[in-house]
Amino acid sequence: MKKINHFIGGVEYISKSDRFGDVFNPAVGEKIADVSLANGDDVQTAISSAKSAFNSWSKTPVLTRSRVMFKFKELLLRDMDKLAAQVTEEHGKILSDAAGSVTRGMEVVEFMSGAPHLLKGEFSENVGTNIDSWSMRQPLGICVGITPFNFPAMVPMWMFVVAIACGNCFILKPSEKDPSLLITLGKLLKEAGLPDGVFNVINGDKEAVDNLITHPDVAAVSFVGSTPVAEYIYHTASKYNKRVQALGGAKNHMIIMPDADLDQVADGLMGAGYGSAGERCMALSVAVAVGGIGDALIEKLKPRVQSLKVGPGNDPEVEMGPLISKAHLSKVKGYVDSGVKAGASLVVDGRDIALQGYENGYFIGGCLFDNVTKDMQIYKEEIFGPVLSVVRTDTFDSALKLVNDHEFGNGVTIYTRDGDTARAFSNQCQIGMVGINVPIPVPMAFHSFGGWKRSLFGDHAMHGMEGIRFFTRLKTVTSRWPDGIRSGAEFIMPTMK
Ligand code: NAD
Repeated sequence: MKKINHFIGGVEYISKSDRFGDVFNPAVGEKIADVSLANGDDVQTAISSAKSAFNSWSKTPVLTRSRVMFKFKELLLRDMDKLAAQVTEEHGKILSDAAGSVTRGMEVVEFMSGAPHLLKGEFSENVGTNIDSWSMRQPLGICVGITPFNFPAMVPMWMFVVAIACGNCFILKPSEKDPSLLITLGKLLKEAGLPDGVFNVINGDKEAVDNLITHPDVAAVSFVGSTPVAEYIYHTASKYNKRVQALGGAKNHMIIMPDADLDQVADGLMGAGYGSAGERCMALSVAVAVGGIGDALIEKLKPRVQSLKVGPGNDPEVEMGPLISKAHLSKVKGYVDSGVKAGASLVVDGRDIALQGYENGYFIGGCLFDNVTKDMQIYKEEIFGPVLSVVRTDTFDSALKLVNDHEFGNGVTIYTRDGDTARAFSNQCQIGMVGINVPIPVPMAFHSFGGWKRSLFGDHAMHGMEGIRFFTRLKTVTSRWPDGIRSGAEFIMPTMK
C-alpha cells in the first residue's frame, strides 16, 4: 500500500509515529494509501526546519522571492494534467473541474509574482521639520495553514503562496482525506528554487493541528474548513496569541426575481448547485423563487437534474463525480431523508443511483426539493452535497430577510434584469461575497475571498491585499538626522506648531 509521509526541509520525511489514516479513491470506494498522522515530535521537526530557514528567507530580496513564484507558475502549467488527475483520484471531482481549481490557485501565484510592487511601503517627507516617516510591512515568521478536503490545491495556495512571497516560512496541514497533492506541490516549489524549510507539509489530524496552533514559535494560523472547527481554531489559536483567520461553512442562496431569465437561472443553479457534487463552500444550495415563479423554475430544473451525468471524475462525459467518503454519503442521504420527513417535496430523488462497475463508489444523484421552509434542517444546515432546496417567497424584502437571518454569510447571488433591485440587494445583504447574475461569485486572486457572520472568524479575508495584510505586520519609522541644533529635552507630546 502506498504511504503518504510528510515534507520537511525540502525532503520527504518519515515519522516514527505508527498512526495512519486511510485515503480512498471515492469513485471505486477502495483504499489507495496510508497517510501518516503526525505527532508532536514531527510538528517540532517541521517548526525547527521553518525556523532555521526564516532568517535567510525573510532577508532574501523580494524580487528574488517573486522570481520563485514566476518559476512555480511555469511548473504548475507544465504539470497541470498530472496535478488535476491527482486531485480527481483522491477527491473525486471531474478532471476539468480539478484543473480549474488548480488554475484558481495558480492565479494567486500570478498575483504574488508582483510582490515587489505589492509590498512597497509609504513615505512622507518632512512630517516635522527635517523629520521623515515611512511605513513598511514585514513578514511574521512561521505561519501555519490547515485546509479542508474539498479544494486540495486551491485553498492551500490561497495561503502559502501569499505567506511565502511576503517572506514567511510556512507549514501546511492538509486534509487527511486527500493529502498527497501537497507533497507534490512542495517538490515543485523546491524545483522552482525555494530554499529548503521555507515550505513544509505536516500530514495528520487533530493531534497535529493542536500541536501547531499552540506552539510558541507559530505567529499566525490560517484555517479553512467547517464552522465548528473554524470556531475552535479561532478561539484556541487566539488564546495562544496567534494572528488567526478561520473560514467556515456556508449556505449560499440565489435570489430569483420574477423578471430574471429563467434559462440563465437554471444553468447557473445546475453548475453552482451540482458542480463538484455540491462540495464547494460557494455552492448554491438554496434557490429563493420570488413572486410566483416557483412552478416555472421547477419545470426548468427538474429535467436538468434528472439528466445529470453522474460517474467517475476521470470520464470526460461525466458532469458530477462521487462524494468524498462513505460516511459523508450517508450523512447527505440522511439530510434528504430529513427533508422528506419534514414535509418538503422531493421533486428529484438521487439517493438510489446505481452505476455499473462503480457499485462501491460514493455516488448520489442530484436531488431537488421544492417547498422548503426556513424551519427545516435541510434549510438551516450546510449539507455539502448535490441537494438543492427551492424556497418560495412573495417579495424582495422577505427574500432579503431570509438571507440576512441565516447564520452563514459566505456567498449569495441575485438574478434580475432590474439594476435598482440588484443594487439594493448588494447594498443591504449581510454577506461577504455577492453575485449579480453570476452563479458563483468567487473573487479573483487580486481581490479577497471571505464571508461574514459564522462563515469567517477573524479580521482578514484570504489573498488579495487582505491576504498580504494578514501575512505581514506594519512597521512605521520616524527619522531625523542630527543637524547640530540641540533644543534640549522635551516633556510634552510632539505636535506640529
Ligand atoms: P473540517 O472542518 O472537517 O476539516 C478541515 C481541517 O480541519 C482538516 O485539515 C482537518 O484535519 C482539521 N480538523 C478536523 N477536525 C478537527 C478538530 N476537531 N480539531 C482540529 N482540527 C480538525 O472540514 P472538511 O470536511 O475537510 O471541509 C468541508 C468544510 O469546509 C465545509 O464546511 C465547507 O463549507 C468548508 N469550506 C469553507 C471554505 C471557505 O472559504 N469558507 C472553503 C472550502 C471549504
